Amino acid sequence: VLVDSLIFARWIIPVEPADRVYEYHALAVHQGRVLELLTAEAARGKYQPQVSYHLDSHVLIPGLINTHTHAAMSLFKGLADDLSLMDWLTNHIWPAEGKWVDPGFVQDGTRLAIAEMIRGGTTCFNDMYFFPDRTAETAIEAGIRACIGLIVIDFPTAWAKDTQEYFEKGEKVHDKFRHQPLIRTLFAPHAPYTVSDAPLKKIAVLAEELDIPVHMHVHENAQEVSLAREQSGMTPLQRLRDLGLLSQRMLAVHMTQLDEQDIELVSRYKVNVIHCPESNLKLASGLCQVHALQQAGVNVALGTDGSASNNDLDMLGEMRTAALIGKGIAGDSRAVPAMAALKMATINAARALDLDQTVGSLLPGKAADVVAIDLGEIETLPLYDPVSQIVYAAGRHQVTDVWVGGRQLLRNRELLTLDVEQIRQAAREWQKKIRPTV
Ligand SMILES: [Zn+2]
Repeated sequence: VLVDSLIFARWIIPVEPADRVYEYHALAVHQGRVLELLTAEAARGKYQPQVSYHLDSHVLIPGLINTHTHAAMSLFKGLADDLSLMDWLTNHIWPAEGKWVDPGFVQDGTRLAIAEMIRGGTTCFNDMYFFPDRTAETAIEAGIRACIGLIVIDFPTAWAKDTQEYFEKGEKVHDKFRHQPLIRTLFAPHAPYTVSDAPLKKIAVLAEELDIPVHMHVHENAQEVSLAREQSGMTPLQRLRDLGLLSQRMLAVHMTQLDEQDIELVSRYKVNVIHCPESNLKLASGLCQVHALQQAGVNVALGTDGSASNNDLDMLGEMRTAALIGKGIAGDSRAVPAMAALKMATINAARALDLDQTVGSLLPGKAADVVAIDLGEIETLPLYDPVSQIVYAAGRHQVTDVWVGGRQLLRNRELLTLDVEQIRQAAREWQKKIRPTV
């Protein structure tokens, strides 16, 4: 049988079926999709590939999905560190955004972020930012999969002057990219404290009509919850429930402030929780109770947040932090085991984004979004358990090859669809403009 490619690897972890590690197997890829996962010997007998890859010390996993980014903010990486969330946001980030954010900024910042993400094994990102049309175009040009947030916020920005314009422009972006195979759009109201009731009600209705998810920062820190209680007598989660926004469509990001009632609410409404442990730690926002949420049957996925509060877009590192802090918070070293962390970055993320028919595992029929990690390096030897090595020991320099929809984007650490020199140059030019003294 003729196929586009065969990828032979020392180990393959398809994530579905769960908890399986295959040794000396191959992945047959045809027309952008996974055709079959079979033993290397059977693959050699059955298929005639156009191209074959022999990754003798590598593990193949499904492409990592970063479920919460502000990609363009990579240009603010390291600009304002070691500050509280509200100080960081109101005195540093919002003023810098007011001064610098335009279509060119978004294009250059997103390109920088995508280059970093591909080199770290990320094949899909869920973004929330201004000029989302530029983010989508930049993702298409790079060949990476992207979920593009149609941002809504109460105050004027360079992208839109009022709520009506945010909706008009958002719907245009939705229409423009609806037939692009690598792009899906979703609503992205910024946060409960920056979006008022009327636009939130409208989003609840439109999300149903357009059949798209809703991506929002929720219960990011204690101040957000206590201020909301003072103003309305309700927690932000209770308010979102009353506005009709709590459902399987909701991706609630951060969720560091949850009592038992909140966890019950989230579980009952099947809300997806997007955990960003490094951003939460860096801004000292609070701690998300991942183990308790998972015990309550809640789907928890993983994101890095933007580079202005992380400061990297490293999903291997994020999995490690999630597994470690998950144990610390639960007071139980059995909480958030390595495989659970890998699922949070793959299949759980795909479910949250309603993309689990397409990505999130290496089941036949799904898109061939595949990452190879070389576990033959010093850092990951000896090797008793590849899942353990990926989560607890490997660094992203060990990611060697990346495919999205069967198209290779990284080959032996070299980016194939992006001009690294041009990206470096653009980053340096923005640095000079944003802070000329350095
Ligand atoms: Zn965020």
